[in-house]
Amino acid sequence: MKSAIVIGAGFGGLALAIRLQAAGVATQLFEQRDKPGGRAYVYQDQGFTFDAGPTVITDPTAIEALFTLAGKRMADYVELLPVKPFYRLCWEDGQHFSYDNNQPLLEQQIARINPADVKGYQRFLAYSRAVFAEGYQKLGHVPFLSWQDMARAAPQLMKLQAWRSVWDKVASFIQDDHLRQAFSFHTLLVGGNPFTTSSIYSLIHALEREWGVWFPRGGTGALIAALTKLFRDIGGEIILNAEVEQLTTNGNRLQGVILRDGRQFTAQAVASNADVVHTYSKLLRAHPRGQRQGHKLAQKSMSNSLFVLYFGLNQPHPQLAHHTVCFGPRYRELIHEIFNSDQLAQDFSLYLHAPCVTDPSLAPPGCASFYVLAPVPHLGTADIDWSTEGPKLRDRIFAYLEEHYMPGLREQLVTQRIFTPFDFRDTLHAWHGSAFSLEPVLTQSAWFRPHNRDSQLKNLYLVGAGTHPGAGIPGVLGSARATATLMLEDLQ
Ligand SMILES: Cc1cc2nc3c(=O)[nH]c(=O)nc-3n(C[C@H](O)[C@H](O)[C@H](O)COP(=O)(O)OP(=O)(O)OC[C@H]3O[C@@H](n4cnc5c(N)ncnc54)[C@H](O)[C@@H]3O)c2cc1C
Repeated sequence: MKSAIVIGAGFGGLALAIRLQAAGVATQLFEQRDKPGGRAYVYQDQGFTFDAGPTVITDPTAIEALFTLAGKRMADYVELLPVKPFYRLCWEDGQHFSYDNNQPLLEQQIARINPADVKGYQRFLAYSRAVFAEGYQKLGHVPFLSWQDMARAAPQLMKLQAWRSVWDKVASFIQDDHLRQAFSFHTLLVGGNPFTTSSIYSLIHALEREWGVWFPRGGTGALIAALTKLFRDIGGEIILNAEVEQLTTNGNRLQGVILRDGRQFTAQAVASNADVVHTYSKLLRAHPRGQRQGHKLAQKSMSNSLFVLYFGLNQPHPQLAHHTVCFGPRYRELIHEIFNSDQLAQDFSLYLHAPCVTDPSLAPPGCASFYVLAPVPHLGTADIDWSTEGPKLRDRIFAYLEEHYMPGLREQLVTQRIFTPFDFRDTLHAWHGSAFSLEPVLTQSAWFRPHNRDSQLKNLYLVGAGTHPGAGIPGVLGSARATATLMLEDLQ
């Protein structure tokens, strides 16, 4: 029987492992932490459930495909609940916007803010749909291994003006500043600066309009548990608390892995879902390819980091939507500082997650769990000592939320914890503590991104946010599909 090893049980690693196992390849999945999920880890605390990372679930078809190809029904494993509105967007001047896929409702709200922008929005939607068809449906799951692959895609990318930024493109259709923010902030969900990220990422709008926004009953952790069970049900083996220390090679072929505890495993193919810099510079350090590629990748521009604050309260806040984007006083300037400044800004824009709005079972009766995150510079941009700055930022965010969104918050606190760029670096081995791996700019996308298969070590593969197409759950599921296609072809 053919065999494969996958390192890391994030969404990308799990999806790849399922695809391989379902195709008859005996697959072992090694995860260093005590639970699978990676950025989608789960904390349980005093009856509160906190999803650590992704909460906006889009493209359910990409998830369902994993169950179908394994011969199972998704409905037997996990239930996806619709989230309405997708997000509530709020500004400090009192402006607000219910972001949804209800066209009349969207147009009504756009007209309330700036009637002239209704037509512009319709043109933006048409553009976003064209990019979605090309960038996601056609190219989002196929590997870019050679410059010819890139050359084939280039004419269409040029036609769609991929060299322009998301902001630039949105601003060409829409005049009002609030609305420009409403239709451009999405790149931040995948670690991209809307002012520099390729307009290809405008496809996120069409993707959300196409399939909606969902939340698994029991939280994102329930979806990870479902994928883990699926993998085991079809015969896959997942080994937890198993940190891979080194990849073993014989010339230009991988043999397998050595774990931190000294155990060794071999397989015909090895895929890494771990951070790409970590994969090359640490795990492959004994091979010249690892040293060279690790050094090269360490020079790349990484996406921002995040400061995440999880908290449980002894009462719900029914005034909140499931997802709220709380825009701060500055947009362009703040984003510029997040991506370029060596200091932490004094203001912030926040994403507030209130999952009990959709599923009250995530907290004890009468209580509610939340998290709030602020995009912050990664450690290569700003050398901030998060052991002292983290608690200070937490206090500023709590005070802000209490004043603007959640009256009485600090008196209702039952539990809290923070996750800083130090944790991304130390717990997830993320280079510079980046939350989303390489920044999704055009010069680091498609063929310019680390390839799904290494160009020299032909049985080493990558999967996850650092390879094509990029971060976000739909992205890493697409990467799993691209990587599985290559591995299955090569293993034939
Ligand atoms: C706070 C936050 C919120 C987000 N919100 C959303 C959202 O709402 N919607 C969305 O679509 N996306 C969201 N994202 C992005 C999305 O979560 C990620 O892009 C995606 O989950 C990354 O998956 P991945 O497969 O690349 O692996 P990761 O989740 O990065 O997992 C990699 C795994 O490899 C393991 N590993 C690393 N090194 C080793 C080793 N040496 N040995 C063994 N195991 C190892 C790690 O422990 C980890 O489990 C969010 C991200 C964050 C951080």
